[in-house]
Amino acid sequence: MRNLIISFVATTVLSGCLQTVAHAEPCMEITLTGTMGGPPIVNGLAGAGTLVKYGDSANNCGDVLLQFDTGRGTIGRLSQLGVSPLQLDAVFISHMHSDHIEDLAGIMQYRWHFLGEPLDVVCSADVSAAKPPPGRIMSCAGYLEHVGDAFLASGEIAQRHLENKKRNPAGPASVALLKAVSLPLPDQPGTIVWQHGEVRVSAIASKHIPGHLSYRVDSPAGSVVIGGDAGNSKAQPPRSSSSSETVELLAKNADVLVHSVIHPIFSPGAGSSFPAKVFYRQSTATDLGAMAQRAGVSHLMFTHLIPALGTGSHGPFKLPSGPLEKEDFRAAAKSGGFTGKTYVGVDLLTLRLPLVVE
Ligand SMILES: [Zn+2]
Repeated sequence: MRNLIISFVATTVLSGCLQTVAHAEPCMEITLTGTMGGPPIVNGLAGAGTLVKYGDSANNCGDVLLQFDTGRGTIGRLSQLGVSPLQLDAVFISHMHSDHIEDLAGIMQYRWHFLGEPLDVVCSADVSAAKPPPGRIMSCAGYLEHVGDAFLASGEIAQRHLENKKRNPAGPASVALLKAVSLPLPDQPGTIVWQHGEVRVSAIASKHIPGHLSYRVDSPAGSVVIGGDAGNSKAQPPRSSSSSETVELLAKNADVLVHSVIHPIFSPGAGSSFPAKVFYRQSTATDLGAMAQRAGVSHLMFTHLIPALGTGSHGPFKLPSGPLEKEDFRAAAKSGGFTGKTYVGVDLLTLRLPLVVE
């Protein structure tokens, strides 16, 4: 589907005759493919993910398609946007928690089944899962190496390979092109980890679990930062903020910040039984508002909402004063001093750059 928005038409004189030249303007589209916060399942929401498209107004920003995180249901949401896993140019993973990677296996299986090109998967190099190292590691490489194991074990890969010898008998792992980001990264201003033409993706290490990365996309149409589940490098109070210092560096003067959010209603001592350890590794709506203001970001997109909108509990944890609505998250961001526009995420919410100044 091509959206033929022509920004302006210039008339030029070439070789003595009048020619009309249509100019398409660069554009970027940011779509939340899933807004569920963590492993709970609520009312059909998809797991965390953000699609960033770049192109121009003549091809509906469709030259480069980048998927950031791939939570449960990502493929279904992409299909609602008319995007096939075959069209993705790269996938970027914030961290190796299942609510951010459950559909990566599905994406790889699809690429393998339909003979897609190998797909760039950008994520952290192996890191120790805890300090001191107990011998276990967080491993995107391990995930990708074994991404098709269940289907190999079931015999499906062999059976489908016999049907079509072009399918690699090694299965979906054969179409995953790992682009491991070695840590530690310098704190600023973000290290370029992927580039295609005028689109640059940089990454910065941020705190949540070991190996967590936050990303920034810069293009002629604008810039967006995808913070992931980042929180402050200090695990718990006393600290000045729950938001990430490194994401704040990365977000400097970005047009849009997409970030996981937790509402302060789940603060320890505020009446819920939400685990303090989990609360403290997320960023609150209030602190994200303050951070966006300091960073000079005008548009804040909340995703990975804890708790989900309109529900009385988050997993087993009941809300002390009933369901929250969008306004509760907006009000929290505003109370942090944010004067820009806050979008409280629902699946498929889309923002287009360049931003139209109202
Ligand atoms: Zn998460």
